[in-house]
Amino acid sequence: MEWIWWLFVFFIVGGFGWVADTGRTALHTRHERMMERLKLAEDERKALEEAHKPPVPVCGCTHHLAKHDKRGKCHEDVEVATEWDEDKKPLKYERRQCNCQQYIGPQPLSKIYADELTDLE
Ligand SMILES: [Zn+2]
Ligand SMILES: [Zn+2]
Repeated sequence: MEWIWWLFVFFIVGGFGWVADTGRTALHTRHERMMERLKLAEDERKALEEAHKPPVPVCGCTHHLAKHDKRGKCHEDVEVATEWDEDKKPLKYERRQCNCQQYIGPQPLSKIYADELTDLE
């Protein structure tokens, strides 16, 4: 009857291994699902925050509103390519003033209110 013991041992070892494996996988996926849910909540929170935040006053020329003077001219320096190689890859850059003539982008709320007030006068 020795073979029965072997069978017994085989089942115990195999069975335990299987239970441990399934348990581990279940735990793993549960953990992953929880992380996913946490990430979703985080994304939602960020989207909400984004919606309540005033837009960053950045012009179409990628420069901040503060870089533009009262008439809208941008005073930020930009690097302009002046020489290219045969692959049209720029070789040399020159610093020039941004040629943006007018700020185009979201206006900060305070500026909109100020404009409205000065219009009334
Ligand atoms: Zn600009
Ligand atoms: Zn600019």
